[in-house]
Amino acid sequence: MTLRLYRDDPYLLHFEATVTARSEHQGRPAVVLDQTAFYAESGGQPWDTGSLSGVPVVAVIEHAGDVLHVLGAPLSADRVVGSVDAGRRQDHRQQHHGQHLLSRAFVVVAQAQTVSFHLGAEVSSIDLDREVTPEVIAAAETRTNEVIWSARPVSVRMVSREEATALGVAVPAEVKGAVRLVEAEGFDLQPCGGTHPRNTAEVGVVVVAGSERYKGGSRVRFLCGHRAVAAFRSGRTVLDQLAAAFSAPVSGLAEAATKTKGEVAELSKRLRALQEQSVEVEARRLFAGASNTTPAVVVAAYEGWPPSDLRTLAQALVGLGPCVALLGSRADKAYVALAQSEGLGHDLPALLQEALLKLGGKGGGRGNLVQGAGDPTLPLSPVLEGLAAKIRTPRP
Ligand SMILES: [Zn+2]
Repeated sequence: MTLRLYRDDPYLLHFEATVTARSEHQGRPAVVLDQTAFYAESGGQPWDTGSLSGVPVVAVIEHAGDVLHVLGAPLSADRVVGSVDAGRRQDHRQQHHGQHLLSRAFVVVAQAQTVSFHLGAEVSSIDLDREVTPEVIAAAETRTNEVIWSARPVSVRMVSREEATALGVAVPAEVKGAVRLVEAEGFDLQPCGGTHPRNTAEVGVVVVAGSERYKGGSRVRFLCGHRAVAAFRSGRTVLDQLAAAFSAPVSGLAEAATKTKGEVAELSKRLRALQEQSVEVEARRLFAGASNTTPAVVVAAYEGWPPSDLRTLAQALVGLGPCVALLGSRADKAYVALAQSEGLGHDLPALLQEALLKLGGKGGGRGNLVQGAGDPTLPLSPVLEGLAAKIRTPRP
């Protein structure tokens, strides 16, 4: 059994130890030591990282009562100096102890029990056995921070299962033998094997980042200490960027966004009306220019028109008088729209297939309006002119 030094001193970062066993874990070398300050992943808290005599420790896992240190490279020495990553350990102390306090606060304000805890790489979460309202979440967050700021001592002690039960602590069935209790003085007492600070003040602050319904209860996401500060900083950067983009103070951003959204909707409406007018004008211009034949055969190619505009123009043209419209647009694709007035008997689907064969595309439709799309890098106008020549040639 590895002696777990972090249990008595969660601030211990450097230690000496003897390698007692060597093995492999998922293709990587791994060692067991007689004692370690490395925390192995358990109880929702991830493992520590660091090094053993300069060799990176990439994972630390519980293995048959021992602590297996998975290494980034082989380690030949039998006597090693261990070094735990200080920043990660402090982060875990803050997040894990913040979780204990937040979970207790939910019991205090709403009798909501925590059924699971996950200490994530960015955000941590607890799952509560009942749904909680935003008001309850705010009350629990406030209560947690009051406890943090009252700087209560945090202590750890080992007791028997009977003693723990007598203290009102619910001991999970999987805990065998002595029970390790973590206490935030006068507020919270619970069984836990994790690394905790000496004082609630070290948690700094707890902020709830969000919540959602989960398995009949609620999942509450939260950030403690330096993570809360980092989140505030990145949120402030986004708000500053938005304030600059809207030329508005942060306090007026919601109003500015709503106003801009309304303006965009109004402008879109006006733009649509203008587009319809300009399509009508364009249709008359094209029709007049092609009215030397009956029916008028209109050929036109545009740059950047969406297929919907081509369709609208084609429909407007064939409504002006006997007309065959052969329209194209080069945009993200080469769009083609063919239309003819009622009573004209050209086989538009066949003409479209002919055009698309040259444009390497596909499309379809039946009757008097067909549309397709092909390769925009191929020349479009000659294809349309080819169709026009075919239409203008009297059929035998
Ligand atoms: Zn815990």
